[in-house]
Amino acid sequence: GVSVRVEDVSKTYKDRGTTTALKSVKLDIRAGELFSILGPSGCGKTTLLRIIAGLLKPDAGRVFFDELDVTDKPAYERPIGMVFQDLALFPHLTVYKNVSFGLEIAGWPKDKAERRVKEVLELVRLPFDVFAHRRISQLSGGQQQRVALARALARDPSVLLLDEPFSHLDYKIRIELIRELKRLQRETGVTMIYVTHDQNEAMMLSDRLAVMYEGVLQQVGSPLEVYTRPANEFVASFLGEANIISVEARGGVAEVKGVKIDLSLFSPELSGYDGRVLLFFRPEDVKLSGDPSRMIQLEAVVIEKTFLGPLTKIVLDGWGDVKFEALAPTRESWGIEVGERVRMYLEPSSVKIFTR
Ligand code: ADP
Ligand code: MG
Repeated sequence: GVSVRVEDVSKTYKDRGTTTALKSVKLDIRAGELFSILGPSGCGKTTLLRIIAGLLKPDAGRVFFDELDVTDKPAYERPIGMVFQDLALFPHLTVYKNVSFGLEIAGWPKDKAERRVKEVLELVRLPFDVFAHRRISQLSGGQQQRVALARALARDPSVLLLDEPFSHLDYKIRIELIRELKRLQRETGVTMIYVTHDQNEAMMLSDRLAVMYEGVLQQVGSPLEVYTRPANEFVASFLGEANIISVEARGGVAEVKGVKIDLSLFSPELSGYDGRVLLFFRPEDVKLSGDPSRMIQLEAVVIEKTFLGPLTKIVLDGWGDVKFEALAPTRESWGIEVGERVRMYLEPSSVKIFTR
């Protein structure tokens, strides 16, 4: 694989009114990395991927593969493979024809092409003898995606670009293909850039991911970094369940229902801070027992309790300006009843403060 560097790429569409799809996006994707671009529909993911592919020209900015500036190179001159939503297979042709198509166009001799088709079909776990001569229309959705992957890998690309390739498949098949994709990436060493709006997919799959919103890059990091230390309110709520409570701070101290929280514990810049802050914490960080001398104590009324198997979701009200949630081990939450006033606890280290 090669590294992919995106330098201050901007794009505005001018056909139906004007839409600014990308605002000065910078990315540094390492060679052989499995990198996801994550964000809600319309945030610019496909636009960015098409620019990396060479299917679309940016208004400003450059794209580099290793040290080579490829900004002005068309897609067919870039060492890429693609699995895009709109890059469909030929349903009436065989698996063999679909995978060998690009090789024939590139002028590969027949026997070399056949060897390669065999190799890539084995790679995506579709044994040649069983599948090569089936028609695409005779395959399941998951098998079709494997063919699309085999076709994209046939010419041994340095970068594989995938745009929500599994979004139309059932959950179980999707999980299976995501595992397969990870294995493929390790086996081939190809740099993989995977676009998705699904935070679970991105977290399961990625070495690192970039979160985008409204054409602006919000944060880049490992799934764990981005989940536990989100850069802002958007990232916090997009990557899983988030409790966000707005509080007025005075002289660096925020007070919620009599509980004083010294903001300088979270960040030295917040000492003496006056104004609104947002307290962010994940439901699973709310503890049912704790040490009040060391932990933030939340006193609230249970208004809802949902059994989720190993965990139970508890919705609470009366601490802070909005309801918040706790996610507790079911065994520990048996005794908690709806309507009851309870005390729960937070480690200060599991709380993050946003100042907007
Ligand atoms: P995503 O893949 O994250 O859903 P897109 O890159 O497809 O986002 O789109 C980003 C923004 O650009 C959206 O507001 C979309 O409506 C707009 N857009 C995308 N393609 C075009 C186009 N060809 N002409 C005009 N606007 C477009
Ligand atoms: Mg898209």
